[in-house]
Amino acid sequence: MSGDPVGNDILLSVRDLRTAFDTMDGTVKAVDGVSFAIRRGETLGVVGESGCGKSVTALSILRLIERPGRIVGGSVDFGGRDLLAMSESEIRDVRGNRIAMIFQEPMTSLNPVYTCGRQIAETVQAHRSVSRAEAWEKAVEMLDLVGIPDAGRRAKQFPHQMSGGMRQRVMIAMALSTDPDLLIADEPTTALDVTIQAQIFELIARLREERRMAMLLITHDLGVIAEMADDVVVMYAGQVVEQGDVRSVMTDPHHPYTRGLLASIPRIGERRHRLEVIPGVVPNPLNLPAGCLFRRRCPYAMEICETPPHLTDLGGGRSSRCWLDAEGRAPEVTLPEAAHG
Ligand code: SF4
Repeated sequence: MSGDPVGNDILLSVRDLRTAFDTMDGTVKAVDGVSFAIRRGETLGVVGESGCGKSVTALSILRLIERPGRIVGGSVDFGGRDLLAMSESEIRDVRGNRIAMIFQEPMTSLNPVYTCGRQIAETVQAHRSVSRAEAWEKAVEMLDLVGIPDAGRRAKQFPHQMSGGMRQRVMIAMALSTDPDLLIADEPTTALDVTIQAQIFELIARLREERRMAMLLITHDLGVIAEMADDVVVMYAGQVVEQGDVRSVMTDPHHPYTRGLLASIPRIGERRHRLEVIPGVVPNPLNLPAGCLFRRRCPYAMEICETPPHLTDLGGGRSSRCWLDAEGRAPEVTLPEAAHG
């Protein structure tokens, strides 16, 4: 389970990861003691509002944090090696080879001056000893695999000659061209329309299944997590506030923030005049409240919440960072229908 980093089948184990950004106004703790683990073949969803540290967590895993950011602590064990302790050339070999990443906006990740086929072929050649012709063949095969029609012709096109959905397919083809063990997908469909989003998720789910690949899926949308993930980590203001298997978190959320996120998911066939929204905004990282970071938005805030809550083990691989759980008095509230199962 994601909260338990011990076990033979664990592919990636992140422990107490801390990443900070130095600004003119002070230090921002963008990722503040995050721990989770992913088993081989499993999908772990990381969910939270924008600015909660989920993307910085992904970039920290691959050591792609640029100044003024810096990783200040923790470890990232991948297949028995700490990625944070590797040399620059070792981590470069892991990136795009054993761990691949797809981002929200493929236009910023694809090079506009090279054809899509050439970019995939170069990725293959960077990590495998194959000839140019073999790498090109692999590129066309990958474009075909991700459902791009007439892949041989499309491979010779430039990114701007493709639609947003097609470009995202190219990114997925490129990411999977080296048969990675882990795919990190950061809001992979946010820039696309709803129909294309569904197609891309279907594609990712199929490829993941066929290749027994693990996935770290980052999104602001718990509905996507319900569809795609086995386990979920809920992040708020740089911290993990709840984690567990998706089914039980969806049907029995503990942390008030998770409850708020769940109440804001639209459900087909449900008559609700308006969706609930979590009141207030994510706190300014340079001016965090003392105690529980969710305190200013929490309907259950109590005096004790002025002291920072710790992650309470709820059993069954679940945990929640809330005094209600630590004190064993989770509130009885009416929850929306479960989004999963
Ligand atoms: Fe709300 Fe207190 Fe729990 Fe924080 S610790 S989520 S303020 S009840």
